[in-house]
Amino acid sequence: MTKAIRIHANGGPEVMRWEDVPTPEPGPGEALVRHEAVGLNYIDVYFRTGLYKAPLPATIGMEGSGTVLAVGSGVADIAPGDRVAYAGGPIGAYATERVIAADRLVKLPDAIDFQTGAAMMLQGLTAQYLLRRTFHVQPGQTILVHAAAGGVGLILCQWARHIGAHVIGVVSTADKADLARAHGADHVVIGHATLPADVKRITGGAMVPVVYDSVGKDTFMASLDCLAPFGMMVTYGNASGPVPPFDLGVLAAKGSLFITRPTLATYTAKRADLVAMADDLFSVVASGAVAIRVNQTFKLSDAAAAHTALEARQTTGSTVLLP
Ligand code: NDP
Repeated sequence: MTKAIRIHANGGPEVMRWEDVPTPEPGPGEALVRHEAVGLNYIDVYFRTGLYKAPLPATIGMEGSGTVLAVGSGVADIAPGDRVAYAGGPIGAYATERVIAADRLVKLPDAIDFQTGAAMMLQGLTAQYLLRRTFHVQPGQTILVHAAAGGVGLILCQWARHIGAHVIGVVSTADKADLARAHGADHVVIGHATLPADVKRITGGAMVPVVYDSVGKDTFMASLDCLAPFGMMVTYGNASGPVPPFDLGVLAAKGSLFITRPTLATYTAKRADLVAMADDLFSVVASGAVAIRVNQTFKLSDAAAAHTALEARQTTGSTVLLP
């Protein structure tokens, strides 16, 4: 047997139960991984509440690091004993052991410990594709990053600075503002009530070529108003709720804007892309350009407390659950 957090119904953090489940067997192309650490991500909240659907009962979680215990037939690149990490679906990471397709695993470099590995994969690969592919940020550009002191946010700030771009970060408290500044944000705005005017002042009226908005419903329209003509609206999360349907004519009225709703799953669908993105991430972390801040740890069995903190906006940087 192994232990897992399972949900039998959608709802608040209290629906998560720490249960015995049979240890899974790796089938063809699969690996059995013993988790050393599991990453906490906002998407876990969406699966728990039912905003994103999964058949029940379900073990949520999309990120982990650990040691390969066994592999199924046809697995050549991964072997028992390998230190590995992964990010992305299918769900099932909130468990002491899990089976996953071996082609979703990357080997962790020796310099990266398990906690950092579990903290960095989903948020770091997301920052990688957002900055390098969704919109290719150039040195000298000024970009807008929401939730700048969060998991994805702190990585975005540091990586953008490393590229030579300038970051305007949006956060909710003065402490988070200090944290974002310490991680590369050149300017920080607290709250979004006057955001377009703040961005206008900071950019001398030029506005920004790209907005990375993970907050969703509460900030969507203000984000559009921060863009320069031809700007790219990257709406990549729903921390405040999903963006309601809207009139595409708004994009015309606000200056021939572009909009995308990207997912990590699309960007990592091909193994070659996953490996290249992970190599890029590992290199910026190994060089020290991007530090992964594991600012909270919880026992995996106490995942409910971790969700409560995340939803109450009490976490900063990354959070790891320990089996
Ligand atoms: P964070 O650490 O960023 O936590 C969420 C933060 O969002 C909070 O700390 C808070 O920061 C801010 N926030 C604003 N409004 C609310 C609200 N009403 N309720 C709760 N939080 C709010 O989480 P992650 O780094 O795990 O994820 C960040 C976002 O990126 C999430 O929306 C997630 O879904 C998305 N994401 C999308 C991916 C993709 O590929 N599309 C992949 C990975 C993440 P503050 O207090 O400063 O406002």
